[in-house]
Amino acid sequence: DALSNKIAAGEVVERPASVVKELLENAIDANSTVIEIDLEEAGLARIRITDNGDGIEEDDVLVAFQRHATSKIKNENDLFRIRTLGFRGEALPSIASVSRLEMKTSTGMEGNKVLIEGGKVQSIEKADSRKGTDISISDLFFNTPARLKYMKTIHTELGNITDVVNRLALANPNISFRLVHNGRQLLKTTGNGDVRQVLAAIYGINMIKSMIPISGESLDYKISGYISMPEITRASRNYISTMINGRFIKNYALVKAIQEGYHTLLPIGRYPVVLLNIEMDPLLIDVNVHPSKMEVRLSKEQELNHLVSSVIKDAFKTKEL
Ligand code: ADP
Ligand code: MG
Repeated sequence: DALSNKIAAGEVVERPASVVKELLENAIDANSTVIEIDLEEAGLARIRITDNGDGIEEDDVLVAFQRHATSKIKNENDLFRIRTLGFRGEALPSIASVSRLEMKTSTGMEGNKVLIEGGKVQSIEKADSRKGTDISISDLFFNTPARLKYMKTIHTELGNITDVVNRLALANPNISFRLVHNGRQLLKTTGNGDVRQVLAAIYGINMIKSMIPISGESLDYKISGYISMPEITRASRNYISTMINGRFIKNYALVKAIQEGYHTLLPIGRYPVVLLNIEMDPLLIDVNVHPSKMEVRLSKEQELNHLVSSVIKDAFKTKEL
């Protein structure tokens, strides 16, 4: 119902960046290869996301806005082998309950366009058949003034959004992302599958020239990525990006393991720029911890941390030879 959607919105959509994250994850889950994010006023005035993915079937268009309607898990077992980014079926109803939302979607057949305001469906009509989904969120939090008051400056909110887009672009080098804010292009990736191209788009070509590849595996884990040379460090750990099975995660122990691998080379208070990708059996990971899905619980955590440290040490050893 409307109230529980608004309550869920408190957890799922804290700020414009969380909306962007949820909508981008949906576009990615729908097998899109080109995704455009167009923002006005850091998303507070408008967030528009256009993808060329699978689209939503006519019969499912309104269903998608019902709570816990997800096309991504069919039964309880699926919860333990989640491959898609979304699975809770909470994002669309939550976002729709605190904004004016317009969505046009098509599977390649005649499409549909739906207009929802504050969670109430205003209209649904036929639309053209361009395959994909085009979703536009205006006046975010217009009906939750307390939440709106809590928004930071345009600068801060935009920073949070670029973090989200950068991460998803890094995790999906085979998808072309384009981010535009108030008419100005902030990021564009080619989608050619090479993660270095994404690193270059985000950090600049000079940064990636000073990054070296890392790779290694154990029985349970396979690690790949890039790490900056010791002369290139940053004063914040925001530049450490860790992914498990293509999903960005936050894990303090993992950051510690990275620092340990870098140990003797790292001045106090400095962090390397890192992109670390871990492939593992989804059964060893529990992503179902928090609605934002950033925190994960891992079995065999020590094996992983040990592997990460030694893989990084090795990368620099090889470099010295
Ligand atoms: P979840 O992603 O957890 O399944 P959401 O509320 O984010 O839940 O989305 C509900 C459903 O709407 C999804 O399961 C999916 O079927 C559909 N959907 C949402 N966005 C898109 C999109 N961009 N392209 C195709 N289908 C989408
Ligand atoms: Mg989703």
